Amino acid sequence: MPKVLDGAVIASEIKQEVAEEVRRLASKNVRPGLAAVLVGHVPASQIYVKSKVQACADLGLYSDLVRPAETVTTEEMLALIATLNAREDVDGILVQLPLPKQVDAKVLLDAIAPEKDVDGFHPVNAGRLQAGRPALAPCTPAGVIEILKRSGIAIAGANAVVVGRSDIVGKPAAMLLLHENATVTICHSKTRDLGAVTRQADILVAAIGRPGFVTPRMVKPGATVIDVGINRIDNREEFDRFFKGNEKREAAFAKRGAVIVGDVHPAAFEVSGAYTPVPGGVGLLTIAMLMANTVRAAKMRRGL
Ligand code: NDP
Repeated sequence: MPKVLDGAVIASEIKQEVAEEVRRLASKNVRPGLAAVLVGHVPASQIYVKSKVQACADLGLYSDLVRPAETVTTEEMLALIATLNAREDVDGILVQLPLPKQVDAKVLLDAIAPEKDVDGFHPVNAGRLQAGRPALAPCTPAGVIEILKRSGIAIAGANAVVVGRSDIVGKPAAMLLLHENATVTICHSKTRDLGAVTRQADILVAAIGRPGFVTPRMVKPGATVIDVGINRIDNREEFDRFFKGNEKREAAFAKRGAVIVGDVHPAAFEVSGAYTPVPGGVGLLTIAMLMANTVRAAKMRRGL
């Protein structure tokens, strides 16, 4: 039976450590603070930001939810970022994406002070990460590494294959694995004979954005499979392709009219030695790593 790498258990471990660190910092009169900027009313964004603000409260961090009007311009957002960059009580700035069409997200993210860029998206942090210097790494890939390490999966010397090369997941995940001494291959939509490459993987990271894309024959038996994908399935045919006969999923589908599936076909997990489930895997680490990054940013900025 493959081992399930439980994201909830690992996330809760990390959150406990963050809360302890926050308590230690309090004795030095430091309270790490996160400014969360939410524009508009995208339901998923509202839920994410609410969870982030709640996590701050749970762990003892200060948070400030900033809600500019939906009609905000790039210039107004830049002025807001400049204010947050200058604020002493703000260690981390998080701009929830997506932003409304009229706002240039790239210009905005580049305007966040790199030392407060707790999402790790700023080119300076990407460069520092690549150069192996202290950096704020993107939360989801950082979570992938935490799952592997805390589950006792050997990374050094392993063949790690990352499918996906986005700036927020694939590339930084590959870079972090490289720093942990894995032999890393990055695959993408132009990769030839993808299955032949993924079958070499001792650690396979799927960050593709396509439901159930990784099939059993793409996985080396016994490999560790990390499924970063989050895809919503709301049509019956597609549901059956992944979950036919799965009572728990049937019940969830009947209740909500949709279920979440990763980038790995559930049958492919059965071939693995260990895997992160979806939901309940990598996704749960993202907020924990955001909290960890905020505390790290607070310490780095003060030279602690
Ligand atoms: P992007 O769309 O930015 O990148 C997808 C990558 O997959 C691209 O590099 C693309 O290649 C590659 N790809 C697409 N089709 C294929 C194919 N047929 N064969 C091989 N490679 C392919 O997605 P993200 O990186 O932002 O996200 C990936 C997944 O992770 C999504 O499901 C997303 O929802 C999820 N996610 C989960 C998070 C979490 O908290 N757990 C956080 C962020 C994302 P190319 O570059 O050639 O186009």
